[in-house]
Amino acid sequence: MSLFDLSLEQLADHLSGLGEPGYRARQVHDGVWKRGSTYEEMTDLPATLRARLAEEVPLGVEVVEERTADGGSTRKALLWLGGRHLVEVVLMGYRERVTTCVSSQSGCAMGCGFCATGQMGLRNNLTGGEIAAQAWWARREAAALPSSTPRRLSNIVFMGMGEPLANERNTFGALARLTDPRGFGLGDRHITVSTIGVVPAIARLAERFPQVGLAVSLHAADDELRNELVPVNRLWPLAELERAVLAWHVATRRRPSIEWAMMAGTNDGDDQARKLSAIAHRLAAHVNLIPLNPTPGSTVLPSPPERIAAFAGVLRDAGVNVTVRGTRGREIEAACGQLRWEHDRAEVSSSA
Ligand code: SAH
Ligand code: SF4
Repeated sequence: MSLFDLSLEQLADHLSGLGEPGYRARQVHDGVWKRGSTYEEMTDLPATLRARLAEEVPLGVEVVEERTADGGSTRKALLWLGGRHLVEVVLMGYRERVTTCVSSQSGCAMGCGFCATGQMGLRNNLTGGEIAAQAWWARREAAALPSSTPRRLSNIVFMGMGEPLANERNTFGALARLTDPRGFGLGDRHITVSTIGVVPAIARLAERFPQVGLAVSLHAADDELRNELVPVNRLWPLAELERAVLAWHVATRRRPSIEWAMMAGTNDGDDQARKLSAIAHRLAAHVNLIPLNPTPGSTVLPSPPERIAAFAGVLRDAGVNVTVRGTRGREIEAACGQLRWEHDRAEVSSSA
């Protein structure tokens, strides 16, 4: 069991079992969650206790590989978590904020063909502690960002590997840990959960964490095309998804985002832009256009920049709030699941 998965009470139980005084649990808890320390750095604890805890309730975060890009303001790591999953996490420093993109699963069962994680299939769900541990890594790394950034972790997006709402219990467990004012203490409003559209879980997200943001990966504005690009659309078609997101908007009074990866000749035509405009209006949504990161397992190609600009123009003319997302970290393969994919291939070829 990793330290990140223990509640304060469980930690207190463990420590009292070791004959430690009552205040120790709070010391360890503050060390890891508030100060972002490793056991080695918790010098207010006796060395023997630190060694024992590292053995019995390890942090379980090992950096397997690390890369930087964009002049050091994008950092990406492949982490070996809890001695059982290889996942990736990305940290992006901007002028006014520092955002980390965390993984919720190792692989993903949703099967979107254009996505590197989808091509892997689902390996494992991460625990709440394993998801939160990535933010712990990110908060530490933020200090090493260039001085052109605030060097303090300010935002978390669940846009790494996996579908957070298909691992709902652990995603909610991670949200509880990350927003705990007596622990990690990040404001709910600084966290966004991205979903492909696991409809029944959206209402529960609104109920449990009404201040946490919602991004919906739409990618197509009619069922015919969406069934093709996003297989779970057959289970939860657009009309149902729209109803769930609208209910979320009404319950939380927050603006959802719509994510749309721009795929050449597939979903980048003016007709899709017009249909998308109507949906965005009904949901009071902000639209993020994402330049597609081509993946080795798919023949879908990225839309040319002129097409992205024209598509954005149709949305803007219809009065929709739209942003074209930058291609942060492209040189280090910072797209959904890609670093992991490369690593797998390297493993396969070295064992062949
Ligand atoms: N499973 C969730 C969150 C992880 S994916 C979801 O799908 O929303 C995070 C974002 O990356 C999603 O918007 C997803 O559609 C997008 N994405 C996946 N593969 C991509 C690719 N090859 N290029 C660009 N964006 C991609
Ligand atoms: Fe899973 Fe999201 Fe990738 Fe689809 S886009 S396969 S839901 S991680």
